[in-house]
Amino acid sequence: MAEDCLFCGIANHEIPSEIIYEDDQICVYKDIAPQAPVHVLMIPKKHIESLDTVTEEDRDLLGYMLFKVKDIVKLAGIENGYRVVSNNGENAQQTVKHIHLHILGNRKFSWPPG
Ligand code: 5GP
Ligand code: ZN
Repeated sequence: MAEDCLFCGIANHEIPSEIIYEDDQICVYKDIAPQAPVHVLMIPKKHIESLDTVTEEDRDLLGYMLFKVKDIVKLAGIENGYRVVSNNGENAQQTVKHIHLHILGNRKFSWPPG
């Protein structure tokens, strides 16, 4: 837990959010400004700033996050494909410095992303 981290606050239930799934390692909740009919964020409960700051000890956790995507997709009612996005650093416009996967679905997405 990092002091003054919005997503740590959500994971600790100190800041209200619509959590749709959580376990001992991850927390998944609805994005406050959805960019698709379904838009949820998956975070590790451990505070990690970005993919740039992961360490060897985070390997299993990172694998677990991707492994759980298909369960969240089903739980959230996403059909016909989805997009998983992780913004890292300034050029990608990462606004919250706690690793998160955006899971977006139930609309068509264009490529390349903007
Ligand atoms: P980033 O831009 O860092 O990739 O994504 C941060 C995401 O967090 C944005 O999609 C934004 O809408 C979402 N967000 C920011 N503040 C809150 C909040 O207080 N609650 C929830 N549920 N989502 C938030
Ligand atoms: Zn955090």
